[in-house]
Amino acid sequence: MRTLKLGDRGKEVLDVQSRLFSLGYDLGTDGVDGYFGEDTRAAVLHFQQRNGLRADGVIADNTWQELVEARYEPGERLLYLRIPSFRGVDVLHLQRSLNRLGFNAGPEDGILGPGTERAVLDFQKNAGMVMDGMIDESVLKVMARVTKDGEPHAAGAKIPDRNGGYAVDRDLADLTVVVDPGHGGDDDGDVSQEGIREKDVNLEVALGLGKALESIGCGVLLTRDGDVTVPLYDRPALANQGGADLFISIHHNSNPSPRAQGAAAYYFCRHGYFSEPGIILAGHLVTSISEALDVPPLPPLGRNYAVLRETEMTAVLLEPVFITADGMDSLLNESGYATRAAEAILAGLGDYFSPR
Ligand SMILES: [Zn+2]
Repeated sequence: MRTLKLGDRGKEVLDVQSRLFSLGYDLGTDGVDGYFGEDTRAAVLHFQQRNGLRADGVIADNTWQELVEARYEPGERLLYLRIPSFRGVDVLHLQRSLNRLGFNAGPEDGILGPGTERAVLDFQKNAGMVMDGMIDESVLKVMARVTKDGEPHAAGAKIPDRNGGYAVDRDLADLTVVVDPGHGGDDDGDVSQEGIREKDVNLEVALGLGKALESIGCGVLLTRDGDVTVPLYDRPALANQGGADLFISIHHNSNPSPRAQGAAAYYFCRHGYFSEPGIILAGHLVTSISEALDVPPLPPLGRNYAVLRETEMTAVLLEPVFITADGMDSLLNESGYATRAAEAILAGLGDYFSPR
């Protein structure tokens, strides 16, 4: 298009003015009149400043391009990586949503470049969608379920696995692991047939795991190291503040039926989103625990538990056995139980970080 500047008149000026007006810019008393006056120039300057353009008050290609693409509402057009890049508020909205969800879309600049595409692919992978990098209605729908206007839904909607969460690229020995013994203090958790309290078994296994991890060089943070009450939300908070790389919560399962048994591991899952590293890690842990303790492996289970949701790193909650199962009291009373369970967990972590 031809360059438009102060004093110009005509259809093209009218077009620019109506776009500015629909975006909420003030065109003064004359409004959309087809004349590029001082008020129009002020609106153009304002638009340029807000969009990081060179503020010269003139409509040339770059400003025109921004003006055209600024009007796209999220979902109004199909977005994908192309040259020249898609630009606009819909791209910005997409980047913001991805970043808030922990998929690194890079700077929120409203330009759909390779960084944004990578984040879209990551999102699609984690959401179990076709990884084609096409941002269509189906992608926006899944995204809308976890975010609203680019903001995570009400408190507690933060998604783990920030920074990609693909800890698998790293060496286990270099990581900081939070070990979280469930319950404690006022909260006994479940109780076995003969009165063994879950909180005590959880703590024993957690202390064993902490030692095992330290012995290979990991940094270890325990959410409790004694029989004390720890509020639920303090547990992920400790992990987030401590900059941990992994969060392992230790519980033990229960069931009214004494025949219920099996090793269980839970990963974060909510509204169609699930933690990709979480499900893989859960699988390794279940396999390792079931072999070591001779209990059936249960399939990894997706759950929206607070400790899985609020943690910003990969998180798994484990229940090595059902403490309510027949014969379990004698297993739990064996002096070696906690050590065996801890070593099985360590082995499962090892399998995740360097597959056999
Ligand atoms: Zn529990």
